Amino acid sequence: MNTYLQSVIDHVKEKYKNEPEFVQTVEEVFTSIDPVVEAHPEYEKVDLLNRMVEPERMFTFRVVWIDDNGKVHTNTGYRCQFNGAIGPYKGGLRFHPSVYPGIIHFLGFEQTFKNSLTGLPIGGAKGGSDFNPAGRSDAEIMRFCQSFMTALYRYIGPDVDVPAGDIGVGGREIGYLYGQYRRIKGVWENGVLTGKGMSYGGSLVRPEATGYGAIYYLEEVLKHEGETIQGKTIAVSGFGNVAWGICKKAAQIGAKVVTLSGPDGYIYDKDGVSTEEKINYLLEMRASNRNRVEDYAKKFGVPFFKGEKPWGVKVDIVMPAATQNDVDMAQAKKIVENGVKYYIEVANMPTTNDALNFLRAQKGVIVAPSKAVNAGGVGVSALEMAQNSDRMIWTEEQVDAELHRMMKNIHDSSAAAAAEYGLGYDLVAGANIAGFKKVATAMLEQGIF
Ligand code: GLU
Repeated sequence: MNTYLQSVIDHVKEKYKNEPEFVQTVEEVFTSIDPVVEAHPEYEKVDLLNRMVEPERMFTFRVVWIDDNGKVHTNTGYRCQFNGAIGPYKGGLRFHPSVYPGIIHFLGFEQTFKNSLTGLPIGGAKGGSDFNPAGRSDAEIMRFCQSFMTALYRYIGPDVDVPAGDIGVGGREIGYLYGQYRRIKGVWENGVLTGKGMSYGGSLVRPEATGYGAIYYLEEVLKHEGETIQGKTIAVSGFGNVAWGICKKAAQIGAKVVTLSGPDGYIYDKDGVSTEEKINYLLEMRASNRNRVEDYAKKFGVPFFKGEKPWGVKVDIVMPAATQNDVDMAQAKKIVENGVKYYIEVANMPTTNDALNFLRAQKGVIVAPSKAVNAGGVGVSALEMAQNSDRMIWTEEQVDAELHRMMKNIHDSSAAAAAEYGLGYDLVAGANIAGFKKVATAMLEQGIF
């Protein structure tokens, strides 16, 4: 490996030894860009890589809220404005008890390259809180969101930093967050958040965008292999917004999602999560805040496997769409034993690095990385920003066509970047290289800081 690149990775490993997720993502991205760094000695002259692993700004804030019984709770809020070289900071907010600096750091770093891959002008950011929404009432969620925004509002804005949803933050939370922003600032600046409701400046297709985009990307991979999606079976993990979008698009085009999972286990539906009733039920499950997939099994009379992950099921395509490190070495081995040909990551960093490298090394297995596959979500967020600044609403057809074009372009530019460095059809390395190069060029051209 290039010695400068190696020294930066070593530095990150030492400095962030208490943040394994951040170390993991830096190693994953930077291993891929080795041939690029080797070809560009000017990066070292301006210490570009150390600058790239240091967020431009990252801060915490106190979020205090009162529950329905009058008890006071104190949580930590975070925002990491990782890299603004190619556009205003952009990225979701995650409300989950597992949130700590390492999670926000890793997600912000990933977001920088993902947003670059969309081809649109958005920088990388991430934020959130260790708040646990599970079991909380609507009024409690509202009070939490209001307190969160009261602390954050002065550091964001339509041309500054544009948060959105992620795990634990959906349309409802974005509504409460925007209401509080407008209330405090007294201006109509709805471009400050994306994933909004349609009544106040949301974009059509944004709720579906991550899942639809993932299927569009998958179709490009299948096309490359001379196959089609019709009749294929897909194992999905998670049952949130992203899994919902995947099920909806898969059903439309004749593929079958046969598994869903939650923290409690997984369900197997041999007929597919394909009817409108089943697909809509996913929304109900999320709105209930119970965070339990077993409800689906009970409702539709399908088997539920308590405490297990769905990766032992024999399918054509695997799409982890839950959370980070969902697939480790033991799971990856099961996937290979089942003869799965397409391993399509959807959640952010769903695979441990050893499992990812193992899967990539298998002949006949095609691995697609999440930062490319799930980029349609944030990509449509950028389209939402464009509609807001133009005071326009695009039709569903317009947004969907742009999303489709974007996903094809992400696939093609990743494949081209890998080919340029003699790596063959390596979508993981290609996405990292293509995403990295645009950010690197923008940083070089803007001088040293
Ligand atoms: N949280 C999503 C992601 O990981 C969406 C971010 C956004 O729309 O800004 O990309």
